[in-house]
Amino acid sequence: METEDPTPVTTLRVRAALVRPSAWTLWRQRPRVIGYCLACVLAVVLLTVLLLRSRPPTRGDLVLFAVLVGLGILQAELGRQVERVRRRLSGGPHVTMSSTWTFAAVLIVPPALAAALTAVLYLHLGLRSWYRLHRVPPFRTTNNACCVILSCYAAAGVLLVTGVHDMPTAIAVGWQGVAAVLGAMVMQFVVNAVVILPARNTIGRTPRELFGGWADNGLDLATLCVGVFNGVVLATLPGLIVVALPLVLLMHRVVLVSQLEAAATRDEKTGVFNPAGWRTRAEAALAHTERAHTGLGLLMIDLDYFKQVNDTYGHPAGDAVLKATAATITRSVRDHNDAVGRYGGEEFVVALPDIEPGDVAIVAERIRHAVSQLAVEVGTDAQPTIITGLSVSVGTATRPTTGSTLDALIAVADGALYQAKHAGRNRVVPGVSA
Ligand code: GH3
Ligand code: MG
Ligand code: MG
Repeated sequence: METEDPTPVTTLRVRAALVRPSAWTLWRQRPRVIGYCLACVLAVVLLTVLLLRSRPPTRGDLVLFAVLVGLGILQAELGRQVERVRRRLSGGPHVTMSSTWTFAAVLIVPPALAAALTAVLYLHLGLRSWYRLHRVPPFRTTNNACCVILSCYAAAGVLLVTGVHDMPTAIAVGWQGVAAVLGAMVMQFVVNAVVILPARNTIGRTPRELFGGWADNGLDLATLCVGVFNGVVLATLPGLIVVALPLVLLMHRVVLVSQLEAAATRDEKTGVFNPAGWRTRAEAALAHTERAHTGLGLLMIDLDYFKQVNDTYGHPAGDAVLKATAATITRSVRDHNDAVGRYGGEEFVVALPDIEPGDVAIVAERIRHAVSQLAVEVGTDAQPTIITGLSVSVGTATRPTTGSTLDALIAVADGALYQAKHAGRNRVVPGVSA
């Protein structure tokens, strides 16, 4: 268990970072990432100075800003434990609840104040919720905040161009206001998705790899929608904004539950299904193919001589190979229906519903070939080592030709995998029923 009061640790860290900028984690990143982060900060600073000059905040703006800061911090404090668990669970992009307040700010106060609100809320998250999570170094939090600020500015740009400067104007002009606010929302969403891309360590090829899954994007949009409501409330009956607080807290909790659900069915190391999660998916796929009278393919895939990878390069390198192999298998099959799971150590299993029986071996061969082309970078940035020459052996089974229940198909594919190993590895052997 971690101690409840984080202040001493946090204070020490902040002090150390301020006293010794040369020790920042940022400087240990690749030059591309360093350049990108600095460019983002520079863009934010320049734009903020320009915007402050063109639209200085009024006293009323500052009051609304103070209300949003208060509510945002109160929500973050009340949801601190939820946020810590969420952040620990989230492997990829992490969506915070802060847009529920910052997008309201875009709609109700000058853009520079929306930026200031973002900075305050991210600073608070970094110090109070994500401290001590090594996966979240300060430069990442700073960069995320910069990206949100840039997307706020882009959204404010839409309002400026459409002549609908803020929510009160939008309410006054009716449908034109609706279009402007929706346009700003879409702009904020799109810019936030795109501006973060250069920071990715691995640039994926599929939209899902690039922009994250439906759940993340849905949550991102939902927080912006709540931001719109908050903007409407602040423009009409500002005192009622307090009712937004329980709603945002509840939303935060619901998101945690779905993240926990996902975590319970996933293999933490590789991101593919764990055995229980895979089984549920595969049983559903099998039932579907029975109803639809289509075929189902099943692949058992085992890395060849994997123990040598561990022995030669160490266990962390072995883990990196497992991760890369899982990603390669996932890339080699269809996105939605096919279920990839980690069956045990270095053994993977794939269910391929709605497949022509003749195509099962083709998919297996595609995976075998893709793994043989893998080059996995391990070690440190300063001393990288590339692992190549990997291979897998694959045993296959097909419904209805070689079995009809999941256990029968697994047994057939496992037998075929055993034969593939004996025949010299790095090959696909189609299973035959006993
Ligand atoms: P074969 O070609 O016959 O499959 O040989 P192999 O070396 O791949 O198979 P073996 O069963 O001899 O060794 C599997 C190794 O996988 C042993 C085990 O320590 C390692 N392993 C299992 N789980 C993990 C893991 O999560 N991470 C790492 N790095 N290694 C793992
Ligand atoms: Mg093996
Ligand atoms: Mg094995």
